[in-house]
Amino acid sequence: MADNNSVLTVSIVTPDGKVYEREDARLVIVRTKTGQLGIMPNHVPVIASLEVDEVKVNSGSDEVDEIAVNGGFVEFSNNILTVIADSAEKQADIDVDRATAARERAKKALEEARQKHDNQEILRNQVALRRAINRIHVAKH
Ligand code: ATP
Repeated sequence: MADNNSVLTVSIVTPDGKVYEREDARLVIVRTKTGQLGIMPNHVPVIASLEVDEVKVNSGSDEVDEIAVNGGFVEFSNNILTVIADSAEKQADIDVDRATAARERAKKALEEARQKHDNQEILRNQVALRRAINRIHVAKH
């Protein structure tokens, strides 16, 4: 049985509550605004903003959980890693049809916003498109 210095506790929380928890992780990979970061037990403390991307939690030789995370930030200290995001979904909970519909909606709205030179709508739809593509990507891994 692993001791507490060789594993991490991982929690992913959103305003709707806890989406994911695991107490036996050995490696967590996140994409921060400044690049990809791998965190293993006893890593130095970290606090960083996250991209809309996947979080990968490795708990054994080939046991990997993938969670789609919509931005937010990661905090790590004392072998506890917490992700706080606006929304997050475990791979198995992702509704691919919904994400595909959201992707097509966002693409269409983005095109319309570009034609109108509406920068705020362009940004909003770029972010919505990124969320949808990320969900599809994580679900189809
Ligand atoms: P949609 O346009 O389909 O609502 P969205 O990107 O606007 O997508 P969010 O505002 O990010 O959705 O999320 C709202 C809630 O719905 C969150 O709880 C999120 O986890 C959940 N959610 C959004 N899309 C999906 C999906 N494809 N599968 C499962 N849950 C989803």
